[in-house]
Amino acid sequence: MIDPIQYDPITGLPDRAYLWSLLKDTLIQIRRNASSSGVLLIEINDLHGIGELVGEGGKGEFLQLMASRLKNCLWDLDSAVHFEDNKFVIVANSIQKQEDIHIVMTKVRDYLALDCEIGGIKISPSTSIGIVLVPTDSVEADEIMTSASTALQMAKPKGDDSFCYFNQDLGERIAEQEVIKASILETLATESFVLVLQPKIDTKTRAICGVEALVRMRDSEGNIVTPDEFIPVAENSNLILKIGDWVLAKTQAISAEWKAQGIDLPISVNISDVQFKNGASLLSTLHDLTASDGNNADNVILEISENIITHDVALASALMSEIKSYGYKLSIDGFGSGFSSLSVLRDLKVDEIKIDRHFLNDVPADEKSTAILKSIIMLGKSMDFRVVVMGVESEEQFEILKEHNCDEFQGFLISEPIEEENFANWYKNYKV
Ligand code: C2E
Ligand code: CA
Repeated sequence: MIDPIQYDPITGLPDRAYLWSLLKDTLIQIRRNASSSGVLLIEINDLHGIGELVGEGGKGEFLQLMASRLKNCLWDLDSAVHFEDNKFVIVANSIQKQEDIHIVMTKVRDYLALDCEIGGIKISPSTSIGIVLVPTDSVEADEIMTSASTALQMAKPKGDDSFCYFNQDLGERIAEQEVIKASILETLATESFVLVLQPKIDTKTRAICGVEALVRMRDSEGNIVTPDEFIPVAENSNLILKIGDWVLAKTQAISAEWKAQGIDLPISVNISDVQFKNGASLLSTLHDLTASDGNNADNVILEISENIITHDVALASALMSEIKSYGYKLSIDGFGSGFSSLSVLRDLKVDEIKIDRHFLNDVPADEKSTAILKSIIMLGKSMDFRVVVMGVESEEQFEILKEHNCDEFQGFLISEPIEEENFANWYKNYKV
């Protein structure tokens, strides 16, 4: 027997207390009928930010809307529960195989993601979803929810509307991430992150025309942890906000030091999608930096990913205008990954686009890849952007860029990223 249902006053859905008896009952049914069920743990991304936008009452209204959308897309035998402030659980019965729960997940995810308006403010909801197949993955009610949380944790760094199925390997990966997170916290506490600098080269003259700052971290044994390993963990835990602030402050210090040595080079800084989404915090950091001594805003190019811009163009455009008003320059990183957005990008106040290095794969050996690279360069030029190509490794690739009037490039052809303390020396010895 299932305990009497207790309803959550905001959403009108059964609450967390009911979930445990529901899961226990589901397990009994599964054993009795030799059937399976699927459990989805759904997190509404950035509910806090939505709450700040629409106020506490608006947040309640928004959660009610999410709950009614959930109810609308479920079958009679399925149940939805309000698990925590920003989390819902769906228990879907009569699931035979992974494809069945995938269909339910896709329907729910896409329906929740439809734009809505709360108090006249447009909201584009997004979710992260952890998925467990019962009984394949777990045998007890609390195990189901632990597995679902693990899967959710793995889904979140993949970005908006991402999902992850639980499997036993995930547990190990979570443990690895915890170790990386501890290293990040330690590195922040001891301020021992390091910046390396990769030169940007003018294609016409092959002179150095800037650098990109890239962050490095060592683990407790002194081994380098690559950004691809620790940035997603930092983003998932919002620690990237602190790392990002450190990188910006450090960039300012380097720029001031260089000025004293007669080196005048713009520095490009990567802005994480999470920093961009937390626009108020980013603006406050940038504002403080411009207000401090040695303000170098006009010598800093902030690289924003194309994906985050196209996610909500109106919001991105407003934030980018604000950033520009402080004197910073803007670059679109990973240009070319979202073609649908081209007309939109044209209207943004952007100084530069960076074409991702995957567009150089097989160039020039493969004709089609080469043709694609050329057309993206020409597209960028036709939109009056300064065009930078990443990851140039050979003279042949360089010649193609030159021929197509690409403005700048970076890559191992000229140099790998250089330790900050060695850079001035490298710069002085660089020969065109
Ligand atoms: P990204 O912004 O696309 O950075 C360029 C990456 O390409 C760098 O890897 C760089 O070392 C590598 N690269 C440059 N030239 C070549 C080449 O010729 N061949 C090859 N194979 N690779 C080349 P890195 O430093 O490992 O950074 C990876 C990513 O981590 C960056 O991609 C960026 O998204 C992120 N990242 C690095 N530093 C920061 C940071 O300070 N803040 C944030 N938010 N993200 C960062
Ligand atoms: Ca970059």
